[in-house]
Order: sequence, then C-alpha cells, then structure tokens
Amino acid sequence: MAKYAMAIDLNKCIGCYNCQIACKDEHVYNAFPPIAAEQPAFGQFWLSIEEREQVWDPSHIKVTYIPKPCQHCDDAPCAKAAENGAVYKRDDGIVIIDPEKAVGQKELVSSCPYGSIYLNEEKGLPQKCTFCAHLVDDNWQEPRCAQSCPMSCMYFGDVEDPESRISKFLAANQGEAFHPEYGTKPNVYYVGLPKPNLSGTVRLAEGNECAANVAVTFTGADGVKRQAVTDCFGDFQFKNVAPGKGTITYELAGYAPQSSPLVLDREITFLGEIKLNR
Ligand code: SF4
Ligand code: SF4
Repeated sequence: MAKYAMAIDLNKCIGCYNCQIACKDEHVYNAFPPIAAEQPAFGQFWLSIEEREQVWDPSHIKVTYIPKPCQHCDDAPCAKAAENGAVYKRDDGIVIIDPEKAVGQKELVSSCPYGSIYLNEEKGLPQKCTFCAHLVDDNWQEPRCAQSCPMSCMYFGDVEDPESRISKFLAANQGEAFHPEYGTKPNVYYVGLPKPNLSGTVRLAEGNECAANVAVTFTGADGVKRQAVTDCFGDFQFKNVAPGKGTITYELAGYAPQSSPLVLDREITFLGEIKLNR
C-alpha cells in the first residue's frame, strides 16, 4: 500500500500563489463525495501561504513563502477530537474529514495546531485539504496544487516507493517538518524553511564602551556549537541557526564570562545590549 506525502522546496517557491488558486479552482462549488463537500468561495484556503521576511542587513531582505496544506499527520489531533469516526486516516495515509459525519463538529477547527481546518458556516461543516484524494483515486500523479506550480517545487507521491519523485527528492534533500514541536508526525516535508537570525551588541559595563573581540559562542537545539567575534561596534550575528532551545556565552580576557539560555522561534532574534563586567 502506498503512503502519500508531499515535499515542498521553498528555495524554488516564488510566491506566485498558483497552488492556492488551483486548489480553489478544484474544490470551490465542486463536491467529491464521500471525500469532500464543496468548498465555499470565500473564507477558506485549504492551502494557505505564510510569508516570512528576514532582514539580513538593510540592503538584503529575504522573503520565504511557505505553502501550507493539511499536513496529513500520522498522529492527527483532529482525528482524536472527532466523534463518530468523522475524521479518519485512509490506508494510504490521507486524512479525511467525512463531509456527512462531521456536520456540527465545529470544535474540529481548533483541534488542528496548524490552523488547517476551516468552518463552512452554511453547512456547519469543518473542512480541509484532502490531498485531492478524489484525483489520487483516479490515478492522477499529483494533486492540483502541485500540478499548477510553475517552479515544480511541490513533490507528491508514495514515500514507500524509492523510485517515486518525492522519495528521490527527499533522498537528495533534508526534509523538515513545519513545527515539529506539535508532535503530530506530519507528512508534508519542507526544504529551505527559514531559520532564525541571532544578533546582539556587547558593551563594557564600565564606561559603556563597545566591546570588540568578544568571543561569542552559541550552542543551538541541534547541538552545533557556533562561534563569532564581535566587531569594533561590539556587534555579532549568527545566521540560519536551529530554532528551539540554546545557550549563548560571551568571553573576553579580563572580564567575567557570561552565559544565558535562549529559546528561538523562526523569527529574527535581536538580543539587545549585553554588558560585560570585570
Ligand atoms: Fe488534522 Fe491539522 Fe494534522 Fe491536517 S494538519 S491531519 S487537519 S491535525
Ligand atoms: Fe488543495 Fe488538493 Fe493541494 Fe490539498 S492537495 S491543498 S486539496 S489542491
């Protein structure tokens, strides 16, 4: 039995939103029973796109577009929250909200930590991405969103088949879960997720002078130890560090070393001024 998953290469995504429009084109006013009821024209994007902006320096701003369909989790909170088996995982890994059994189960919307479930107010029905299961069942190789991407950055297929396009892509690239801390075992993998940029300014407490040549060591959640040295303004920067818990230390001859724990999300983190004492 196949196990379907998706991998998205964010390094290639240009933010054209074609995938989002293709999803609407496929599902708005089109019902595919027993897989999905029709999607309303407004108020739902079964594939939303998150835009992350990172300012490396004033002349270098990087925007990463993150397409977000349902993650078709192996340990899906929506399935646990559902009554009467209204959300179920097919043998091929696709998570489906039953469009009849789920009527009235509005609490399913808040059960998804990814915000992938939307309420159809008119029908009282929670709805979401189906991985285009109606097309998969019709032997399509890709869902509409992946098919519409002009950059071919979405890879869909059977991850148990080493010869599939997605398996070959993931063998050559390190796929990551979006928000692995949710612990839902998602089946959408990302390559090129933005990583935090960590920076700060070190000063000498005595005289409030810029502290140059301070050895700054950051140990991230991935266990990797990175080192930097402050410049003549006391500034330091680490790019693309691992999100999560870490520790940072500051050392300068003649001054007491300082160390502090950090928790980094995927945004830019500026630590402000760090003062060294003798
Ligand atoms: Fe359910 Fe949300 Fe996981 Fe999709 S992403 S399977 S809606 S918990
Ligand atoms: Fe929409 Fe289908 Fe893509 Fe899911 S797989 S986001 S339902 S087009």
